[in-house]
Amino acid sequence: MQYIPYGRQDIQQQDIEHVLETLQSDWITQGPMIEKFEQKLCDYTGASFSAVMNSATSCLHVACMALGVGEGDVVWTSPITFVASANCALYCGASVDFVDIDEETYNLCPQKLEEKLLVAEAENKLPKVVIPVHLSGQSCDMKKISTLAKKYGFKVIEDASHGIGGKYEDSPIGDCRYSDITVFSFHPVKIITTGEGGACLTNDENLFQKISQLRSHGITRDYDLMEGVSDGPWYYQQLCLGFNYRMTDLQASLGYSQMDRLDKYIEKRHEIAQQYRSLLADESLILPLQAQGTYNSYHLFIVRLPAEKRTEIFNKLRQANIGVNVHYIPVHLQPYYSKRGFRRGDFPIAEDYYRSCISLPMFPTLKSDEVVYICERLKEFLI
Ligand SMILES: *Cc1c(COP(=O)(O)O)cnc(C)c1O
Repeated sequence: MQYIPYGRQDIQQQDIEHVLETLQSDWITQGPMIEKFEQKLCDYTGASFSAVMNSATSCLHVACMALGVGEGDVVWTSPITFVASANCALYCGASVDFVDIDEETYNLCPQKLEEKLLVAEAENKLPKVVIPVHLSGQSCDMKKISTLAKKYGFKVIEDASHGIGGKYEDSPIGDCRYSDITVFSFHPVKIITTGEGGACLTNDENLFQKISQLRSHGITRDYDLMEGVSDGPWYYQQLCLGFNYRMTDLQASLGYSQMDRLDKYIEKRHEIAQQYRSLLADESLILPLQAQGTYNSYHLFIVRLPAEKRTEIFNKLRQANIGVNVHYIPVHLQPYYSKRGFRRGDFPIAEDYYRSCISLPMFPTLKSDEVVYICERLKEFLI
């Protein structure tokens, strides 16, 4: 069997034609495709505004900045995520803390969030922003988190890097119904790709304007937003200290084209998940929970193995050309975070999860006989 990666992009002729058309047009960056892609993201999710950028990491950074995160503030997120969900707060000079995960969904646990908020309130250390992460594309309990946000006065950024195409309460992830900002990633292993790329979605016009400025040097060309009087038609103003986090038109045309197949991709991922579920049903492993009220985008298919066998099985699967992976190493156990005071044992459920989890290959062009091969090897190694 040829090497099977855990995730990969799907590029079709239609994508190539869209990118070629842009490449041969007058604009290869900051042309019409940026806005067309942004509009398509709004149409799909129902969010009022979207701003695409060169990565989800950039989006998380400017999302924190737009919400006013700065020195002296605290941002909370899940320990089971990619480091970028926590780093964004440190970029702003704030500090980071974590809320342990739910045993069954592996997402930030709303009960633990509530308990931690009670303690933080008593100590006058409430978070400015909480960043729930929709692991594998299964939504967190956003209703609960949003209720707590109102009660304790924090803002919410959904890290939906895995989540485009997924749903919460029958409504698309990204609609921002229960959050201030939602972030998508378009890295090639994610659901749709622009090479590198990401998007911020929001329903708040004021936040959208801040995000748009921060993405491009803090500059505006909108006369309504300027201070004083314009010098002339060439005029622009820098209003804050921003970055060059822009996406190119080449990337946007790829994303625009990929959006046409988004629903098909999710359907295909569900078919693969179903095949895994039926082939692995009787084995001594834990399959992903299908949480009520959510429709998973299945960026990942995570199963849990007996912890004492996990590493051995991981190695054997890799030797069998199966590109399994582990999502994620708890962020607080990274050396950089240990140096900031976090210890083993701080978030025990996340650490338990980490010892037993494994991500099986999951991407829309994964073939049915490959899934059979993966399951056969896994069952063989489990005995
Ligand atoms: C991939 C990912 C990111 C970062 O996305 P980039 O587009 O690569 O910057 C952030 N958070 C999570 C949960 C991710 O999976």
